[in-house]
Amino acid sequence: MPKNLSTQLGQYLPPPVLALIKIAGKEADELGQELYLVGGMVRDLFLNRANFDFDLVVEGDAIKLAQKFAKDSQAKLTVHARFGTAKLNYPGFSLDLATARSETYNKPGALPTVKPGNLKDDLIRRDFSINAMALHLNPKRFGELIDLYHGKDDLDNRLIRILHPNSFIDDATRILRAIRYEQRLGFKLEAETEKLLRRDVTMLDTISGDRIRHELELILQEDEPERAIRRAEELGVLRKLQQSLKVNGWLSKAFVKARQVNTRVPLPSIYLCLLIYNLTEKENEEFIARLNFPKSLAQAMRQTLQLKAQLHNLANPKLKPSDIYQSLHSYTTIAMQANALASESPIASQHLHLYLAKLRYIKPLLKGDDLTRMGIPIGPKIGEILDALHKARLNGEVKTRRDEERLAKSWGQNQTD
Ligand code: ATP
Repeated sequence: MPKNLSTQLGQYLPPPVLALIKIAGKEADELGQELYLVGGMVRDLFLNRANFDFDLVVEGDAIKLAQKFAKDSQAKLTVHARFGTAKLNYPGFSLDLATARSETYNKPGALPTVKPGNLKDDLIRRDFSINAMALHLNPKRFGELIDLYHGKDDLDNRLIRILHPNSFIDDATRILRAIRYEQRLGFKLEAETEKLLRRDVTMLDTISGDRIRHELELILQEDEPERAIRRAEELGVLRKLQQSLKVNGWLSKAFVKARQVNTRVPLPSIYLCLLIYNLTEKENEEFIARLNFPKSLAQAMRQTLQLKAQLHNLANPKLKPSDIYQSLHSYTTIAMQANALASESPIASQHLHLYLAKLRYIKPLLKGDDLTRMGIPIGPKIGEILDALHKARLNGEVKTRRDEERLAKSWGQNQTD
């Protein structure tokens, strides 16, 4: 007897979403098509973990079904005809529909050749057994589990298992995906899968920088990415991204600390700058080039190392706030945050925190216009006075507008003397 999960699905999904999925199944039926819920949501339904990525597979024509269903359910429809996929947007969530397809890999690491296929084809092309289960959504079989690769057993045994021995050769991004799921879920790589992963680590060389970077970004978005990074090192994967990347107790602690500090910067960017913290500038450049990091992230990574090289200047307890400002104001926030977390000098860290929390927001009250109104002629002097006011305000030497006016006047006076 096939297992039926309609009750669990009913408890897992909010009622309006469940109703919508049922109507979609009915409409598929009317078109003579089969509709399935697949991938991560089926896995997470069993694990009782929240997931709002609705991946639906259609045996037939996903676009035809999406067009009909969008009209009937008043969804905003986006169609990618070339890929046979469609997205239905509702307030607060969306449904992704794809025509079932088969994939063949002509060359390791290349994108696959795609042809329309049936559900079985669509499931075998997937990464791991726990991601290769489907639930039927047509009315007569609503909630029926299709589990051709024993994903449920692997879920029960807490195992990450590839579907065929060439899986990592076909697509080595699965190496990083395997580690991410294993560490997120607290599972283990199934023994043969781990053996093949270790064998095929070199296949990461066949993957483009953009695709590797995407998988690394997904890892860095996990709740505790240090677990996956540590495991990647142990499996020989981390050094395939950059030979000198290493994890030690320090890095894990810095990641934990990063989560405790209330930064305004997205955590994944900080994790990344911590990850590269012990690379040389040359190694960092190699890593940036290999993973093709976008300009802004590459800049944050470079500045992290540049600032690290200057940190000794910040470790002086006698620095005035204006000196700290002067040393730091040209660095990106991410580079400063990473250094504040990683620095071995408590004084340098303190100065970085002071800059981030306070100094960067301090500005003089008087503007250039105020100075010209006070009779100071337009010219370079204005800039000098504004700088002096800024410094004085950082150092707490002026408090009120009147203090500033007094200082500006005396400065103007000195300059004309
Ligand atoms: P997550 O919880 O991380 O979002 P997900 O399972 O929804 O997990 P996606 O990256 O959105 O993950 O992918 C959706 C599905 O597509 C996966 O469940 C998996 O079946 C399949 N998939 C994604 N990437 C690959 C890949 N490189 N090789 C094979 N199948 C893949």
